Amino acid sequence: MNRDGPLRSIAIVGGGTAGWMAAAALSRVLGTQRIAITLVESEEIGTIGVGEATIPPIQSFNALLGLDEDEFVRETMGSFKLGIEFVDWLRPGHRYFHPFGTYGVDAGAVPFEAMWHRLRQAGQAQPLDAYSICAAAAAGGRFMRPVPGGNSPLSHIGYAFHFDAGLYARYLRRHAEAAGVVRREGRVGQVIRREPDGFIEAVVLAGGERIAADLFIDCSGFRGLLIGEALGAGFEDWSAWLPNDRAVAVPSANNGPPTPFTRSTARAAGWQWRIPLQHRTGNGYVYASGDLSDDEAIATLLANLEGEALAEPRLLRFRTGRREAFWVGNCVALGLASGFMEPLESTSIHLVQAGIARLLEMLPTRAFEPADTRRYNRLMTAEFETIRDFLILHFHATERDDTAYWRRLRTMAVPETLAERIRIYRATGRIFREADELFTRTSWLAVMDGQGLCARGHDPLAATMPLADAAGRLDRIAHVTALAAQRMPSHADFISQRIGGGRSP
Ligand code: FAD
Repeated sequence: MNRDGPLRSIAIVGGGTAGWMAAAALSRVLGTQRIAITLVESEEIGTIGVGEATIPPIQSFNALLGLDEDEFVRETMGSFKLGIEFVDWLRPGHRYFHPFGTYGVDAGAVPFEAMWHRLRQAGQAQPLDAYSICAAAAAGGRFMRPVPGGNSPLSHIGYAFHFDAGLYARYLRRHAEAAGVVRREGRVGQVIRREPDGFIEAVVLAGGERIAADLFIDCSGFRGLLIGEALGAGFEDWSAWLPNDRAVAVPSANNGPPTPFTRSTARAAGWQWRIPLQHRTGNGYVYASGDLSDDEAIATLLANLEGEALAEPRLLRFRTGRREAFWVGNCVALGLASGFMEPLESTSIHLVQAGIARLLEMLPTRAFEPADTRRYNRLMTAEFETIRDFLILHFHATERDDTAYWRRLRTMAVPETLAERIRIYRATGRIFREADELFTRTSWLAVMDGQGLCARGHDPLAATMPLADAAGRLDRIAHVTALAAQRMPSHADFISQRIGGGRSP
């Protein structure tokens, strides 16, 4: 059989966030004239229905789809996110903010953090929040989009979104179907593989319909129907470092306008999220079932809601880790089928987006060049691992010792890649962003400092400028940051006046 030439068909199995993101992006970029795109989903099985906080790179995904951002926020009952507030993570009563955007600006070759550490050691620095426009705006409940160009802190605003997961999938579906994606309703009962290479030839629905394709995208959720069950890709388990394996989720009524940030509050055996939307607030307690019973988790969650619960709590089980291969033969796994890490830094939807972007970069022909597959797997592995290390940092670098859970996590051995970053930070306060890894220097600095890591020294580059110059510079940054934040509209006004949304009380 001739297997040369461009792809003629793509089948996406699963219509959750991952499936519809893939369908919308692939149809937008590739069109559906030359490559037929089919998506199969089962209403009976349903979707996970959580996953409502994002990080700034989602803006480029929206741009790729050509979405009107105001419409997107309106239709998904969304709100804007300037970062994450971490409460009680270092110790009960403590809080810090992980902002998007940047802290101030570098002084030529001297990084901001080099100046800050040197000044702090001289007793002349303010807490990091003073230098972040996102932290200052979040504290005042304010939001606006960045003003491009210039040196104003308003040009450093970084933002993402909170949205209703169900409305988001519906919104993407509309775009994908308008672009020619064909949706099939039904449960995949059988996966047919061809000889001799074991590639997937077709999936067969319970009703007998056979869907053949050149490329299959497995978006079937935790089960990994194609990548795991049919193709046997193993799973690398990371629960030794990230032991949380359950979540209980419940929506609650808003008790005020939505805040422009996600909140994460550390609890006895995990942490609780709070995600503000226009019409409700999403809440959940992520915990380790070995340390806490489901009943205790539900009781803690319900006792810590700010508004009345709007539904019964839902229990979700998960396993932390990644597929040993994300792309096998003619099948690429996206979303929960590819692996999962708890939503502490809202990274799962980003990993879907990153997988789609890499797939487009390495779009195969029907010959499926193995070097593309290997490269995709290598890059996605690196992407998963840097996120893993960043998450572990939150649990490991803490003073909490009030429960067996925290005592275990703070004393555990961490991956060498993370241990090395911590050693470098402790010695010099330096932060390296490796290759094009997801988290910026701002993110690492916010969490390392927020979780109580202290640098003994500073980057020698900081000594290339007089201490008084560095002090003057950072004072000016803090001053203009505070002034700029005061000029921003409130988040609620921004949503109601600029977006035309806002059903909050
Ligand atoms: P699913 O939503 O499970 O969709 C699977 C699809 O496959 C469904 O359409 C189903 O019908 C279909 N399917 C399955 N089997 C078959 C079959 N046999 N035949 C036909 N169809 C089938 N991510 C973030 O980025 N931010 C967050 O804040 C966040 N919070 C989360 C909180 C929790 C507790 C959890 C567990 C996850 C969270 N995530 C978050 C992750 C996020 O929810 C997922 O990455 C995202 O929803 C993608 O899910 P999915 O589409 O891969 O899977």
